[in-house]
Amino acid sequence: MNVTARYESVKADIANAELAAGRNPGSTRLVAVSKTYPADAVLPLLHAGHRHFGENRVQEAASKFPALRSEFPDLALHLIGPLQSNKAADAVALFDVIETVDREKIARELAREMDRQQKWPELYVQVNTGNEAQKAGILPDEAVAFVARCRLEHGLTISGLMCIPPVDEQAGPHFDLLRKLAGEAGVDVISMGMSGDYEIAVAHGATSVRVGSAIFGVRS
Ligand SMILES: *Cc1c(COP(=O)(O)O)cnc(C)c1O
Repeated sequence: MNVTARYESVKADIANAELAAGRNPGSTRLVAVSKTYPADAVLPLLHAGHRHFGENRVQEAASKFPALRSEFPDLALHLIGPLQSNKAADAVALFDVIETVDREKIARELAREMDRQQKWPELYVQVNTGNEAQKAGILPDEAVAFVARCRLEHGLTISGLMCIPPVDEQAGPHFDLLRKLAGEAGVDVISMGMSGDYEIAVAHGATSVRVGSAIFGVRS
């Protein structure tokens, strides 16, 4: 199968999972994660009408997407990887959605850059649902208060939560936790589910799934 065929098949899986869960058709957004793949791999999806893409590195996205955006101005680029504060300016300039706000310093830098550039990407807070030492994200116990501080102290609009469950655990309980925290924090977007578990994520209430290898093929 080529990229477009795999994309159509992922979309069909999502539609079926929505149906099975009694959710509205089309209530889950698909973000196609193009990291490590060249612009040439992205083009067929743009031509098929797809617009939401995810990249995990600011630098790589900067080398790939400005040219694609000049041809497709309405594409929406999501940052799904950790953000260093010295890259906040580039991230605000380049991305339409930043899914990985996870600490005070980043919130402060983003607020300053958004004000300076007069550009307001959508922001999600990343939650480390598994309390993993090596993983980015705010701890679950602190997530709701952090969202409140982003709003009150930094004047940011937070529209979603995002998580990456531990690789060696069932994803379902992590998805349930993220959904519960999203309700408590009062955000609409729940970004969870990757190639291995996007159908489970849809069943657990994801409104946005981030799928890479199931569309573009296994990364080398
Ligand atoms: C790479 C990545 C994905 C996509 O992973 P696949 O398993 O290839 O679908 C999703 N989310 C994040 C944060 C990633 O870094």
